[in-house]
Amino acid sequence: MTVQKVRLLEQSPAVAGQFSEFLETCDWSAMTEIHRNKQEADVLQALAKDSLNEEDFAALISPAAEPYLLDMVAKSERLTQQRFGNTMSLFAPLYLSNTCANECTYCGFSMSNAIKRLTLNEQQVEREVAAIKGKGFDHILLVTGETNKVAMAYFERMLPLIKPAFSQLSMEVQPLESSEYKRLQEIGLDAVLVYQETYRRKTYLEHHLRGNKSNFNFRLDAPDRLGQAGIHKIGLGVLLGLDDWRTDSLLMAFHLRHLQKRYWRSRFSVAFPRIRPCEGGIVPKSVISDRQLVQLIAAWRLFDRDVEMSLSTRESAEFRDHAVRMGFTTMSAESKTQPGGYADDAETALEQFEISDERSVDLVAQMIRSQGREVVWKDWDPALS
Ligand code: SF4
Repeated sequence: MTVQKVRLLEQSPAVAGQFSEFLETCDWSAMTEIHRNKQEADVLQALAKDSLNEEDFAALISPAAEPYLLDMVAKSERLTQQRFGNTMSLFAPLYLSNTCANECTYCGFSMSNAIKRLTLNEQQVEREVAAIKGKGFDHILLVTGETNKVAMAYFERMLPLIKPAFSQLSMEVQPLESSEYKRLQEIGLDAVLVYQETYRRKTYLEHHLRGNKSNFNFRLDAPDRLGQAGIHKIGLGVLLGLDDWRTDSLLMAFHLRHLQKRYWRSRFSVAFPRIRPCEGGIVPKSVISDRQLVQLIAAWRLFDRDVEMSLSTRESAEFRDHAVRMGFTTMSAESKTQPGGYADDAETALEQFEISDERSVDLVAQMIRSQGREVVWKDWDPALS
């Protein structure tokens, strides 16, 4: 039996009513043809509409839309300002652990990478929290590798230590069951990001070689489980570069609409990470240029006026400066992607990927204000739930 067959046997079945069931009916090539076949008339039609569907989104991310980039950006800026005002919310990631039982080809935390592993204990977490608070942040994103050793029991110990210091607590950790998300919500969880990386199963299995993350459907249906648990905000993302960025983005647009129809009480966010160099990393298969990324950002804002859009320090300072007004609502700043990075100045050899924008949070806040935007440290309060 081949390795590929073994991995397929480990897959969770598609679950009725969840996104995996829809994706089983989608053919990757047919989805690719949708955006490839878009013409100028489709782009103009999408640009003129107030309420866009997935076909319109496909037109806006297609090559046919490239001559209309300035129009798209102008509309994206206007819609973002109308809906979110002149604001930019800032957050900091707190890496709790770089221990991981998965093998992902693009990640510095992959289990076979010979790096020092560290999972923060209570005292180390408290030091990190104090250091992050000291920089002014009120929104924190907890990040871990994916392993059974850093799972529910660990989260139940750490959240009560961290939550009192922040008004918004988000997590980017291994996919959990609905009941587990509910439990974490009881002790302070507000938002969860679960990036699918790619919606193409074949490519996904090529890049997720070992561990629970190779279970494509279990990850794919995590946002449904979050919606069922009533989590306040759910974040989607694909890792741009693993496969055709347009087809992956189109499927993410279908995913967002699927979730919005079912879990209308939740808010949603999207992110567009591009593959960054890391230890033991790979060369991207499909490279998305700066200009194409701008097109994608504007297309998302035109497609959905309410979705929150997040920009990380993976991107360069120069790109982030230009992107501030484009459609984003949230940015990270002065991020450390290694556990102990803020208070204990842990070695960068522990980090998940190289940061591109290394400016201090003060400099990032200054840059945002210089563009006429107000910096928001807190955009949510548990009292609002
Ligand atoms: S991407 Fe996540 S699951 Fe994969 S190796 Fe990195 S930390 Fe582990």
